[in-house]
Amino acid sequence: MNAAARIPVMVPWLGEEEARAAADAVLSGWVAQGPRVEEFERAFAGRVGAGHAVAVSSCTTALHLALVVLGVGPGDEVVVPSLSFIATANAVRYTGATPVFADVEAATGNVTAATVDAVRTARTKAVLAVHQGGVPADVHSLRAACTRWGVALVEDAACAIGATVGGKPVGQGALLAAWSFHPRKLVTTGEGGMVTTDDAEWAARLRRLREHGMNVSAAQRHAGAAPVLESYLEVGFNYRMTDIQAAVGLVQLGRLDAMVARRRELAARYDTLLEKVPGLTPVRDPAYGRGNFQSYWVLLDPSFPVDRGALLAALARDSVSARRGIMAAHLEPAYAGHEHAPLPVTERISSHSLILPLFHSMTHDQQDRVVAALREQADR
Ligand SMILES: *Cc1c(COP(=O)(O)O)cnc(C)c1O
Repeated sequence: MNAAARIPVMVPWLGEEEARAAADAVLSGWVAQGPRVEEFERAFAGRVGAGHAVAVSSCTTALHLALVVLGVGPGDEVVVPSLSFIATANAVRYTGATPVFADVEAATGNVTAATVDAVRTARTKAVLAVHQGGVPADVHSLRAACTRWGVALVEDAACAIGATVGGKPVGQGALLAAWSFHPRKLVTTGEGGMVTTDDAEWAARLRRLREHGMNVSAAQRHAGAAPVLESYLEVGFNYRMTDIQAAVGLVQLGRLDAMVARRRELAARYDTLLEKVPGLTPVRDPAYGRGNFQSYWVLLDPSFPVDRGALLAALARDSVSARRGIMAAHLEPAYAGHEHAPLPVTERISSHSLILPLFHSMTHDQQDRVVAALREQADR
C-alpha cells in the first residue's frame, strides 16, 4: 500500500488573481455578458491570431454555432474523428446533419487529408478536425484539401490553446475554430468557450446567435441614452458567457505562456524517464508543429506485460490517477447503429492509450512516482 497523497491527472492553475478578478466583476454589479466578455474576446483574438473572437458558454456550443453559421443542416454530412470527446460528433447531430467518422493517423491521433478523403462523399458539407489533446492537426494540408474539395474546415481547438503550427498559433488562419475553457483544458473559466474567425460577417452573426438572435446586445441597450428597441432576426440560442467567467479568463490568458512552457518541460522530462520503461510509446510533437501537452498520453505496445485496465488499476493502487486515453464516439451507446467505415487506428489508440498526470504545480518527485509505478508493471 502506498500511503502517499494521490497524484491527480490534472489540476487547473488558478490563484488569488482569478479570485480577485471574479470578485471585482461581482462587485461591479454587472455579472452577465458585458464589458469583461468584450475585453476577453479582444485579448483572446489577439492571442490566437484571429480577426474576431465570440465568447460562448462552452466549446460544445461554439462548435454548434460554427456549424450553424456554415449553414450545415439535415441532409448534410460532416466528417469528424470518432477519436475525440463526444461533443465533437454531438455538435453535428444538433444541426440535424450526419457525422461521418474518419480514422486518424497513429502518430498524432488526428485526422489527415487522406483519412478524410477516404470517407467524404458528395454530401460532405464540412470537415470538423480536432487538435487532439493539444497535438496540432496538420491544418496546412487539411485547409488545402478542403479548398480543393469545396468543403468548409472547422477546427475543434478545445484542447489546443498555445499549440503552434509552423511557428504560428493554432487558430491563426482558421475559417472557424472552437475553444474550451473547461477546467480539464489549460485556460479555464469554469465553463466557457469561444469561436474565432477572420470573417466579420460571421462574427456578427455568431454574436446574434448566442444571444437569442437579437440585433443589439444587452450591453449596447444599456449604454444607449435613448431607449433602444431590440428585434429578433432569427431563432437564436442562449449560449452566453458571464462577465464573472470572462474576468477569470483574462487572468488565465496572462498565464498561458508559463502554462505551456511548464507543461512542455514536464513532458520532456517524462520522455527521458520513460525511455527506460519498455513497451510504452509517448505522444510527440509532429514535424509541422508543437503541442501544448494538455494531455500527455502513452500508447501501450503489444509487448507490454499487462493490459490497460490492469495498468490503470495498478496505478490507482499506487495513488496515481491516470485516465484511459481519448474515447472513440462510435463505440458509445449514443452512436450504436451509426454506420461508419472501419476505424482501426482509432480503436487501437482508444483501447491502448492512457493519459498520465501532468499539471502546472506537479513536482519532479510526483513525476518520479508515476514513472516508478509504470516501471513496476513493465517489469512484471
Ligand atoms: C473538452 C472538449 C470539448 C468540449 O468542450 P466543453 O467546453 O466542455 O463543451 C470538445 N471537443 C474536444 C476535443 C474536447 O476535448
